Amino acid sequence: MEKESTTKTPPKIKGEVFIKKERCKGCGFCIQFCPSKVLAFSKEFNEKGYHFPEAVNPDACIGCNLCGLYCPDFAIFSVREKKSK
Ligand code: SF4
Ligand code: SF4
Repeated sequence: MEKESTTKTPPKIKGEVFIKKERCKGCGFCIQFCPSKVLAFSKEFNEKGYHFPEAVNPDACIGCNLCGLYCPDFAIFSVREKKSK
């Protein structure tokens, strides 16, 4: 029996991150824990007076949702893009 080739690269997983800036309290957990360095603080303030995150590198998002899991204020979440056939 022939062995399966192991040289295939796995398909790249792509995600999209959504930020509800008015809920954010500027703790920075999402920025700190994002493994793909997608997020950074915006220079703008929200209505509460906090800097909120923005996606500065959106193409790198893998939709892991770690940002959403760490956010104490449910201000950020992600979805994984469905693979096109
Ligand atoms: S879903 Fe994952 S890769 Fe995308 S912004 Fe959140 S933590 Fe970063
Ligand atoms: S983890 Fe949530 S509250 Fe903290 S900076 Fe990110 S979006 Fe804002």
